[in-house]
Parts: sequence; structure tokens; C-alpha cells
Amino acid sequence: MFLRQAGQAVATVIVAGPAAASAPSPLDDAMQYDDQKKVGFAIVGLGKFATQQMMPAFKDCKHARIAALVSGSPDKAKKLARQYGVEAKNIYNYENFDTIKDNPEVDVVYIVLPVGLHAEYTIRATKAGKHVLTEKPMATSPEDCQKMIDACQKAGKKLMVAYRAQYEPFNLDAIARIRKGELGKLLQITADHGRSVDPTGDKADSWRVQKKLAGGGSLMDIGIYSLNATRYLTGEEPVEVTAIESTDKNDPRFQEVEDRIHFTLRFPSGVLATCTSSYSIQEVKRYRVFGDKAWLDLDPATDYKEHNLKIGDKNGERKPNVDEGNQFAAELDHMAECVLNNTTPKTPGEEGLRDIRLIHAIYDTRTGKRVKV
Ligand code: NDP
Repeated sequence: MFLRQAGQAVATVIVAGPAAASAPSPLDDAMQYDDQKKVGFAIVGLGKFATQQMMPAFKDCKHARIAALVSGSPDKAKKLARQYGVEAKNIYNYENFDTIKDNPEVDVVYIVLPVGLHAEYTIRATKAGKHVLTEKPMATSPEDCQKMIDACQKAGKKLMVAYRAQYEPFNLDAIARIRKGELGKLLQITADHGRSVDPTGDKADSWRVQKKLAGGGSLMDIGIYSLNATRYLTGEEPVEVTAIESTDKNDPRFQEVEDRIHFTLRFPSGVLATCTSSYSIQEVKRYRVFGDKAWLDLDPATDYKEHNLKIGDKNGERKPNVDEGNQFAAELDHMAECVLNNTTPKTPGEEGLRDIRLIHAIYDTRTGKRVKV
């Protein structure tokens, strides 16, 4: 435990409403990265993302460590506990999870469960007196997001949504270039996120096609990257959305959730964003930002590694060098530093709520009045 401080339809919907980059912390120099001084995280849900991406990243963290595991699969939990040096007494299941309140080694509960369970575990974590880092999307409805925010506020605990792209160096570089005016006046953005969802072949996809657990289809899961990117790239909140959906209801994968959904956003400065989200195409995770002087292309933009940045203007194209770093460790360290420094996360609950509100606005417009042309 760390040494605590004191403390196919086209319609329009009007929506109200940015995100910035993190500064180096004084803790970086002051701490010797002693494991016992690190902030203790309990990982809730030992699935694909937690075990393949996040847990391995803790080795690169300066301020975060794995202190406990919460799982419905005892054998898997025991094996991972041995692998990550977690004491057997710090393994919990979903029934005895609330007793984590008596464990001073746990400071942060990191929720890596299906989306439909994020709200319940956030609220239970705050009742146990813990800070919360929750995976994206924050929850299935704006109402649940608000309940999560309120619960953390009431308990005086931090709430951060794990928008890893906002801690990822290529995305931070893109934001910095746009803010410096390298592209000139920002005019338009295109963003595409898609993959082929495989609920029978990949266990991690089985809950993603169930409305109750996923909240929606491709838009909730991956289209959210396009949406969130338009907001952090512009630094603005959209004021209008339009949407059009195409889902093959004969495809057994899409009985409860949508497949393809395209949406456009208008921002107060006049920037227009055109985004696509799909659960039936081969993998794409890219965006391109157009200004009146230059364009910036990131493809992939929101992958786990090997991002590819290009900038083009009237003189041609170039590929700036950016150090890939470890976006997962950066995100975990940010949460830990917020706890250590008693500061607000860069991607707090309110950031997650904005996206879920927009997603629901997009869902509302997809069945809007059609204009035949
Ligand atoms: P998985 O299905 O692989 O993992 C979810 C885990 O939750 C399961 O392995 C299981 O762990 C636990 N669980 C508890 N109840 C249920 C239930 N009813 N159904 C299914 N699982 C249950 O999914 P992912 O790891 O892909 O996704 C987990 C979370 O991470 C989601 O919120 C997702 O949106 C997010 N995510 C974020 C990414 C990012 O880049 N930021 C990328 C991928 C996912 P156990 O057996 O230990 O109980």
C-alpha cells in the first residue's frame, strides 16, 4: 500500500457540451518506484483485455501495482495470482467482493467486466471505500453513468474511465499538433472503427452481442473510439448528430445489437466529423483530420501498438517520429498519480457520460425520419 496523503435514417439531434494532455508529475523524481509505495489495484474480471494487455503493463508502471484479483473463475485467479505475485488472501470472487473494504492494500478497483456490470461494481467499490478505474464504454446508459459519478462523489473517491487513446503518445502528438495550429484551421474529420465480431469463436465476443451486457453493438464497443477521438482532436463538444444504420437481421450475430452505424457530428467551430462503426468488416482503427493548411492521418490510430502517423500538405507527405511508449502503463500510472496527488483524472466519469449521451443521441437518430432521394 502507498503512503496515503491527507486526503439508414438521417435525422438531426441537438446535443450540448474536452480533454487535454497530462503533465509530468513531481512524483516521477521523488519516488524510487518501491513496490510497497505504489498504489494497489484490484483487477475485477480476468478476461481477454485484462490478462493480455493490462496486467502485463503493470511491470512498466512507476506508481501502480496489482494488489488483488476479483474473478468468478477460481483456478484462473489462482494461476494469475502466482504469476503476478498476488497473495492468495487477496483473491476475491463476485460474492465476497464487498469484503475488499477491509483490505488496506487495495486503493483502486479496476473494472474490466462486460459493460452492463460496470455501474454495479463501481457502486459496490465506492461502498467499500475504494477509488474506481472503469473500462470504456463507461456504462450502458447515461442514467447508470450518472449513478456512478454520484456514488464516487458521495464517497469522496476518484472515478476515471479507461480511455487509453487519451494516454497514447501518437494521439497526444496529434492533439498537440492540432492545438499548435500545424494543420491550420480545423475543418473536417473522418474516423473509421470496425472489425468482425465473432461471438461463437471468441468468448470475449459472446457478451458483446447481448444487449443487456453490451448496451449496444459496434458503436458502444468500437465506434466509441471514433466518437471520442473527434472530441479530443477538436477539443470541442458536438452540437448536432445525424446517423444511419444498416444491420442484417438474418445474421445470428445481430439479433440484439447493431452492426454498421455511420454518424456525423457538427462542432461549434463548424468542424464536421464523419464516422463509421462496423461489426462485420475486417479490422480498421483510423482517423484523418483535415485543416485548411494540412491533414494528419493516424492509421492505425487506436491500436495496442504500431501506430502510424502521416502529415500531408501542398509540399507532400511526411512521417514524424513518435516514441510508442506503453499507453496501458501510462493510463494506469495516471490513475495512481491522481490518487497520490489527490487530483482529478484527465478522463473522469463526466467524460464517459458525454460519450454515452452522444451514443444514445446517435441511436435515437438512426430510426429517424427518412428522406427518399
Ligand atoms: P472478456 O469477456 O474477455 O472479459 C470479461 C471478464 O469479465 C470475463 O473473463 C469474466 O472474468 C468476467 N465476467 C463476469 N461476469 C461476466 C459475464 N456475465 N459475462 C462475461 N464475463 C463476465 O471481455 P474483454 O476483456 O474483451 O472486455 C472487458 C472490458 O474491457 C469491457 O468493458 C470492454 O469494453 C473493455 N475493453 C477495453 C479495451 C480497451 O482498449 N480499452 C479493449 C477490450 C475490452 P472472470 O472469469 O475472471 O470472472
